[in-house]
Amino acid sequence: MSLIEINNLTHVYGKDTPFEKVAIKDVNLKIEENEFIGLIGHTGSGKSTLIQHLNGLLKPTTGSIVADGIKIDKDSSNLTDLRKKIGLVFQYPEYQLFEETVERDISFGPKNLGLGEKEVLERVKNAMESVGLPYDEFKDKSPFELSGGLKRRVAIAGVLAMNPKVLILDEPTAGLDPRGRDEILSEVSNIHKKENITIILVSHSMEDMARIAKRLIVMDKGEVFMDSSPREVFKKEDELKSVGLGIPQITSFMRVLKKRGFDVDDDCITVDEAKESLKEYLRSRKDV
Ligand code: ADP
Repeated sequence: MSLIEINNLTHVYGKDTPFEKVAIKDVNLKIEENEFIGLIGHTGSGKSTLIQHLNGLLKPTTGSIVADGIKIDKDSSNLTDLRKKIGLVFQYPEYQLFEETVERDISFGPKNLGLGEKEVLERVKNAMESVGLPYDEFKDKSPFELSGGLKRRVAIAGVLAMNPKVLILDEPTAGLDPRGRDEILSEVSNIHKKENITIILVSHSMEDMARIAKRLIVMDKGEVFMDSSPREVFKKEDELKSVGLGIPQITSFMRVLKKRGFDVDDDCITVDEAKESLKEYLRSRKDV
C-alpha cells in the first residue's frame, strides 16, 4: 500500500446549483514515502483543489483518498487525524502568523495537539533548525519585524512542528526576491533530506521544478495530464505548450544551440547540466 492513494477523485464545486463547476475529475495517483513531487498546471487546472483534499480541507464529491491508512470519502467526518499527518503550507503563509513571538507562533500547533511542554519545545527547536532559524537568535523576535523570506520560514516551521508525514507547499517562493527564493528552495530540499518526509511542491517555476523535484505531476482541466520525471516531462515541449506551460529557459537555450548545429545535450534541465555539456562540447572541439 502506498503512503497516499487517490482513487477516482472528482470534486464539483456548487453541485446542483447554477454555478456547478467540476474542478478535478477522476484523478488517480499513488504517492510513496519520501517522494519529492512537483505539481504544475495552468491557473484553474485543479492544483489547489487537489491538495486541499489531501489534508481534509475539501471532501471528495466522488472517489476516495487513503492517506497513511486513513480513508476519506464524501461521508467522512473526522478529519483531524489526517490533518496531523499531512501539513499544508498555503500561499503567502506569513499572513497567518499572529503570535507575538516566533516561538509562540511555531508552538501553537503542537500545543493544540495537547503535547507536554518538553515535547513542544523540542519540536519547536527542531522545526526552527530545519528551516535555518537558530532558536536562540529568533525565538523572542516578533514575526512581524522579520523580512518576507524569514516570515515565510517561520510559517513553514509552524507546520513542520506538527511532525507531518507529508508536507505540501503551495507556491512557497511566490513574491520573494531571487535570494529569498533560493533560500526557501534550499531549505525545502534540506527538510526533505533531513526529515524523511514526503514533499509536494506546487510551483509555476519550471526552473525550480527542474532543480528540486524528482517527479512532476502536470494537471490540465482538472485531470492528470502527465506524471513522470522532470527530464521526461520537459522532453514533451509541444504537449506542455498545448496546456499553457513552458520548459526551463536553459533547456530552450540548449535546444536552440542544437538546432543551429552545435552538438550539445538538449535534454539538460538545469544550468549546471548545461555547463557540463558546453564544457564537453568545447573539449571535443579542441581535439578536432
Ligand atoms: P489551480 O489551483 O490550478 O489554479 P483550482 O483548484 O483553484 O486550480 O481551480 C480549479 C477550478 O475550480 C477552476 O475552474 C476554478 O475556477 C474552480 N474553483 C476553485 N475554487 C472554487 C470555489 N470555491 N468555488 C467554485 N469554483 C471554484
